[in-house]
Amino acid sequence: MTSTSVPATPTRSAQLFQRALQVTPGGVNSPVRAFQAVGGTPRFMTSGQGPWLTDADGARYVDLVCSWGPMILGHAHPAVVDAVRAAAPHGLSFGAPTEGEIELAEEIIARVEPVEQVRLVNSGTEATMSAIRLARGVTGRQVVVKFAGCYHGHVDALLAQAGSGVATFGLPTSPGVTGASAADTVVLPYNDLDAVAAVFAERGQEIACVITEAAAGNMGAVAPLTDFNAGLRALAHAHGALLVIDEVMTGFRVSRSGWYGLEGVPGDLYTFGKVMSGGLPAAAFGGSAEIMSHLAPAGPVYQAGTLSGNPIAVAAGLATLRAADDAVYAALDANATRLGGLMGDALNAAGVAHQVQYAGNMLSVFFSETPVTDFAGASAAQTWRFPAFFQTLLNGGVYGPPSAFEAWFVSAAMDDEAFGVIEAALPSAARAAAEAVK
Ligand SMILES: *Cc1c(COP(=O)(O)O)cnc(C)c1O
Repeated sequence: MTSTSVPATPTRSAQLFQRALQVTPGGVNSPVRAFQAVGGTPRFMTSGQGPWLTDADGARYVDLVCSWGPMILGHAHPAVVDAVRAAAPHGLSFGAPTEGEIELAEEIIARVEPVEQVRLVNSGTEATMSAIRLARGVTGRQVVVKFAGCYHGHVDALLAQAGSGVATFGLPTSPGVTGASAADTVVLPYNDLDAVAAVFAERGQEIACVITEAAAGNMGAVAPLTDFNAGLRALAHAHGALLVIDEVMTGFRVSRSGWYGLEGVPGDLYTFGKVMSGGLPAAAFGGSAEIMSHLAPAGPVYQAGTLSGNPIAVAAGLATLRAADDAVYAALDANATRLGGLMGDALNAAGVAHQVQYAGNMLSVFFSETPVTDFAGASAAQTWRFPAFFQTLLNGGVYGPPSAFEAWFVSAAMDDEAFGVIEAALPSAARAAAEAVK
């Protein structure tokens, strides 16, 4: 087994971070990357190969973030890199339709049965923003119901009590989000159907849609309780509202058909991102042909994008989905179970109260006595144990998510060598978590 050497002081990353701080707020282009919740210096990466990342100081890590989900095949997968190489010489963007966009749409539609048409966009944020606009346009209503701890990108109307970085930094919402956006958003506890029923009883005629992560991954991995998603669908439909299922994180990761493939509860609108573009910027939203026909130019609800359906991003996405066969999904599931098992063993040996929780093959560790089913539970966990756990793993060559409120992501590229590094790093990380003080 190759040992991973991680320098005690990441000199080059520290220098780059100082430089980045001069030209970018907080030194990063997405907040959680700055390591503020765990302390220390964010690692600047120079390359990724299979399950490994290499940083600017030459240290190698097993990657358990996978670009926050997309890299299910591992980094620089030959089929994906070849597809990008093959596409690039033909031109980088046309602002005109291409055959590849049809093929990617067909691949998504073939995998997720309730989706008959999709529109390609550039990010998950754009997908949820557009899905919400479409839901409002179709229903002629204004109010959106979302769940605390669910993250749907940085859309104004959806930032209230959002998960991911908003949770990491403890923000109730964000300055700059107008009162109207926030007032049009009703935030309820995740997994609480009674709360949803109550708000529909009171304001049913105003509600355009309920938006939910298919399985929550942005407060850590918190699966929906049995019947939660089905209950949302029933309540929404009883009041003429739409169910928007956000599969940006779960889509094409937790099964070939995403969370829908595991649970089978159909939504009216879906959002996708992350895996479907193989690490390049592309995302999508979709639904029945009837609902999607309200979108311009077929219908009046406006939505557009200069780079939407970009040929290189489409090529990477198609190559990723085509390579993601049953064997890949079996490997993802097996690797998640193996990782969760190792974490649980180490934390048990160290005597720390914890929950290893799964949402399909996404997983999280909560330092909690009881299973976490909502954002209040995730926030009540002993999150102060997390930085020590994270940093000790990092020093042992394991790159986990730098926040207690994020899921851990495996790739199908993980091998025995990668698991060997994880297994070697975990006992001291678990002891560090046990010895952490508030
Ligand atoms: C990542 C994520 C988004 C936002 O996608 P971006 O591409 O970061 O804009 C939306 N919803 C969910 C569930 C996500 O995990």
